[in-house]
Order: sequence, then C-alpha cells, then structure tokens
Amino acid sequence: MARIKLQDVHKHYGRGAAAFHALRGVSLEMRSGEFVALLGPSGSGKTTLLRAVAGLETINSGQIQIGDDLVAAPGRHVLPERRNVGVVFQSHALWPHMTVFENVLFPLRESGLNETQARPRVMEALAQVELQDLAQRTPGELSGGQKQRVALARAMVANPRVILFDEPLASLDVELRRDMMRHIDQLRRPDSSMMYVTHNQEEALALADRVVLLFDGCIEQIDTPVRLCREPQTERVARFVGSGNLLPARRTGVVREGVAQVAVGDYAFEARDTSQGTSEQVRLCLAPTAFALVGPELPGLSVRVEHVFFQGSSYAVDGVLQGALAEPLSLVLPFEAQPRRGDMLRLQVRDAWVMPETASPDAHQPKSYIPQDR
Ligand code: ADP
Ligand code: MG
Repeated sequence: MARIKLQDVHKHYGRGAAAFHALRGVSLEMRSGEFVALLGPSGSGKTTLLRAVAGLETINSGQIQIGDDLVAAPGRHVLPERRNVGVVFQSHALWPHMTVFENVLFPLRESGLNETQARPRVMEALAQVELQDLAQRTPGELSGGQKQRVALARAMVANPRVILFDEPLASLDVELRRDMMRHIDQLRRPDSSMMYVTHNQEEALALADRVVLLFDGCIEQIDTPVRLCREPQTERVARFVGSGNLLPARRTGVVREGVAQVAVGDYAFEARDTSQGTSEQVRLCLAPTAFALVGPELPGLSVRVEHVFFQGSSYAVDGVLQGALAEPLSLVLPFEAQPRRGDMLRLQVRDAWVMPETASPDAHQPKSYIPQDR
C-alpha cells in the first residue's frame, strides 16, 4: 500500500520580506502503483515538491502521507532514509570510489542486509537495467546512459514504496532517452508509485498515467495525458502542452450532447464542447495536427504560410489566418502537402475543443498564508 497523499502543502524559502513562496497549497493523491508526472516550466516548484516528498526539504504547512505514514506535517519531519523512497536525479549522483555493484548494494546495506543476503537482489536489479556484466566497474568507466541506469537500479533495489525521478533524462543524448524511457517504464510495480519531474511534455505524456501541471507553485490541472492534450482547462495548459492554437470563434449552436457548431469568419465546423457556457464568443483550442488541406474551392480557413520546417516525414508550418483575425497558427502537414513560404492554404478543421470559460482570475490566486518557523 503506497498511496501518497499531499494536503495543502506550502513551502517558503527564506523568511520575512525576502521569503519566496515556492509551493502554494498543493493537494494531490496518488494511487498505489500509479505513475504521476509533475510537469511545468522551470521554477514552477517541481523539484521542491519532489524533495518535500523525499524528505530532503521541510514544508511550512500542510501534510504529506506515504502509505499509512504521516511523513511531513507541522512539527513533524520524517528523515529521508526512514521514508522508504528511491530517488533518481538528473546527474546520477553515484559514489565515484565504489563499484557499480557497491553503489547498488548501498541502500540494502543501510537497511541492514549483509553482502551475502543482498547479492542476489543487487544482481537482479542490475539485470533489470542490463548492467549485470559491468558490476565491477566504477562510475568513471561508464557512459552517461549507463551511469543513469545504475542510478535506476540503486533507486529500486530496496523495493521502495515510491520512486522519485527529477529530470532523469535531461543530461542524456536524444538517442539514449528512448532507451532510458523503456527502462523506466519497466520499473512499474503495482505496489510502488512513481513521481516523475520534468519540464519536457513529451516525456510526461509518454510515461505517465496522470500528469500534474504545475505553474508558480500551484496545480493548474491534473489529468490523464490524453485529456490534458485534448481537453485543456485553461489557456496556459493549452499553450504549454501540445502547443495548441487558440482561436476566437463564434458558437452558433448545439450539434448534439458535447458537440457545438462553431464558426470562424464564414467557415462553420464542429467542436467538442463540454463547457456548458452560453456565450456566443468562445475560444477554440486546435492542435497543430487538427487541420486537413483541401482544394481552394471548398469551405475552410485561409492560411498564408510564413515559415516551413521540414521534420523528416512531415512539415511544421507557421502560418497566419487570413481575414479580420490575422491570428498566427502552427500546423503540421503531411509530406505530400509540400508547403512553401508564401503559399495560400485552404484548411478544414478536423478536431477542435471549446475552451471552458475562465473562472474569475481570483480562482487561481494562492490562499493568503503567514509563514511560520519550524
Ligand atoms: P523547478 O524544479 O520547477 O524548476 P524549483 O522547485 O527548483 O523549480 O524552484 C521553485 C522556485 O523556488 C524557484 O523560483 C527557485 O528559484 C526557488 N528555490 C528553489 N530552491 C531554493 C532555495 N534553496 N532557496 C531559495 N529559493 C529556492
Ligand atoms: Mg527542477
């Protein structure tokens, strides 16, 4: 049972006027075995949150529970080594003077096993990351990817209740990333949870069961990767995930439950709509892949091509919508489209999402809070 529960967690760095409010009331519940990615721009508080769960950072108020244990609360701070968590950092943080074997052995030694008892478990962990043949090397004799795999083995060898990852792929070459993602994916266990910090949306969407989107120390949206991309709740989410286009449109009617008739200029099309709003003016979120190129005689949006970026098997295009709006649009077009700068395209919309009406700006303001000493 390794449910993780965070309730109204606040963290300040520093005191008084210079205090920085890094976590502003974060509440989150993770199921046992769940893989949760914490996604957000640099400085949004992801590392702070992860370190608070690991016990490497105290919190100012709120509480953190791992399984049935209350590990952090006002006046309570369970030390990291007593939380039964594994951590993988961006820079592997291996002990340079120990062999690979000794590095992975370390957490088991700490938990009181001797080498004879621990050896099979160390070798099993190394086999999981395909490093059993390099057990006697030191970290200095390994590549970056291999070092990071040792860090994975070390984080999981003691069967922790939670494995915490902080940007584990950030220091790796592009071609090694997929390999590491495979290894991380293989570590999933029904009885331990994973919390994975990244500013890279591709990693978060690819690996996680649910993504927690963090801005300025507050959770903006928690959802499955698919829902986060297809049903962003705020414009910040739409822009950060999936580089969605946001376009003003008119809502002219209801097609059926959950689908509205909308129009941009005189081009009418359908959009997914669960907003239950009533206003005619709406904003649409349109993924770059949501457009289909059609002949100029057909109805559609007219878009002028400004920049073309070849992507191997498709083209990314920056365009500008023609007409009164002159909104920028980013598109992905198939290879056959062969777009060129200056081209005028006629595009039909295959999929669109009506943005929920924004709550009052106050809804996202942090609660007032007075720092207290610990
Ligand atoms: P992220 O991991 O999302 O980039 P962090 O959790 O590292 O963000 O930092 C969140 C905010 O807290 C940043 O503005 C950062 O400058 C600040 N911060 C982090 N650690 C400290 C510290 N030890 N002292 C003061 N401010 C800090
Ligand atoms: Mg960080």
